[in-house]
Amino acid sequence: MRRRLPSVDQLLQDPRFSGLVERHGRGVVLRVLRRLLDAARERAAAGDETGLQEALDRLGADLADRVERARRPSLVRVLNATGVVVHTNLGRAPLSPVAAARVAEIASSYSNLEYDLAAGERGDREAHAEARLRELLGAEGTVVVNNCAAAVLLALNTLAEGREVLVSRGELVEIGGSFRIPEILRKSGARLREVGTTNRTRLADYRAAIGPETAAILRVHPSNFRIVGFTEAPDLAELAELARSAGVPLVEDQGSGLLEPLPEPAHTEPTVAGSLRGGADLVTFSGDKLLGGPQAGLGAGRRGAIEAMRRNPLYRALRVDKMTLAALDAVLLDYEADAAAASVPVRRMLALGAEAVRDRARALADALANGAPSLAISVQDGESAVGGGAVPTVGLPTALLALTHSSAGPDRLAAALRAGEPPVIVRVADDRVLVDLRTVEPADEPALLLALRAAAERVARG
Ligand SMILES: *Cc1c(COP(=O)(O)O)cnc(C)c1O
Repeated sequence: MRRRLPSVDQLLQDPRFSGLVERHGRGVVLRVLRRLLDAARERAAAGDETGLQEALDRLGADLADRVERARRPSLVRVLNATGVVVHTNLGRAPLSPVAAARVAEIASSYSNLEYDLAAGERGDREAHAEARLRELLGAEGTVVVNNCAAAVLLALNTLAEGREVLVSRGELVEIGGSFRIPEILRKSGARLREVGTTNRTRLADYRAAIGPETAAILRVHPSNFRIVGFTEAPDLAELAELARSAGVPLVEDQGSGLLEPLPEPAHTEPTVAGSLRGGADLVTFSGDKLLGGPQAGLGAGRRGAIEAMRRNPLYRALRVDKMTLAALDAVLLDYEADAAAASVPVRRMLALGAEAVRDRARALADALANGAPSLAISVQDGESAVGGGAVPTVGLPTALLALTHSSAGPDRLAAALRAGEPPVIVRVADDRVLVDLRTVEPADEPALLLALRAAAERVARG
């Protein structure tokens, strides 16, 4: 039976496959072909004659199919129809077309990243986004590293290596994945000194814990959870006063990175400038959460603390590249011009009222009623989420397109949507597929409509 297997060389000369080699290169085609032949060889070895014949008959189609799939980029654009605005699994904040174009330009050319054009000599990368951020926040200093976790690590290592950091027991939190305050603190070389209790920590608890070993007080924004009921925590101003009188810096890990207050009902989320005004010596936050920019960790605060962070050799290991700085600078330009509410996608999505989403949902429902006979479609009230671990208990009123398929459950339809091009990510609840247009750009609605029709049809065909 094995003798019926063609050789790799024979196959590569087959005119059916030469196009594949030309388009994708010999290496990939060879690798996939060897794998298919191995599978066929196993069938031959097992004496499975029909299986072998099938494999040989399908060889051309399988090869083309697998080579095409192997050659697709693995990181692809998806449509986020979940209504979770800052969705960490879906790449958090999308950039505006203008910001994305700035990234493309800087990425594909040389730039004045560390070059002073006026003086004609080596310049400073701080002159770009960091300088703009400093102006915007009215902060003495700013620093940009890879993400907020890196900013916290750098801050603690710089300010408190080998010494104690006071943290309330109610703030020893896990932010998601592997970012846990006690662990990042240990990795920074600082020692954790726990203060107060899970639900109640008073100013007096901090005061009692301050001693010669104290290097900093760390306040962590409980961004992704809430403790309710019998609770107490000193407000920022009180804590700042205590830190000042004790001569230790107050660091606030804020995470969400809000530059301008959110509209109701999410208006309780604190802003970076508010924390600086409230007396924090250093605030750390993410670039790709509520700020709506690229993945980055930003630090803003006192000049001394920021300069010490920059001098730390860890800064060199954690700093960002030109593409991040280009994106961040483009987004900050929008904030500077008071244009962020309209041009930064995350800000625009967060500000959408339920009425605006409902109008779009109704129009999409009408369009979908043509050409998707297997779908039952309705528009219902619902809630979107801010996401990114911000204001976790606040839902944004929205309108949802609710879909049921005549021949399959919602999980099948959701899977078909994920398998489409572009993949569409939806919510499934109450036996329905729910589509929230808050997180879909209007320009993407035609693509969404086609994807919904195609998925419904694929499910109907079984
Ligand atoms: C999200 C968050 C972080 C981690 O931010 P990354 O940019 O994802 O590293 C740290 N601290 C707080 C309070 C957060 O909300």
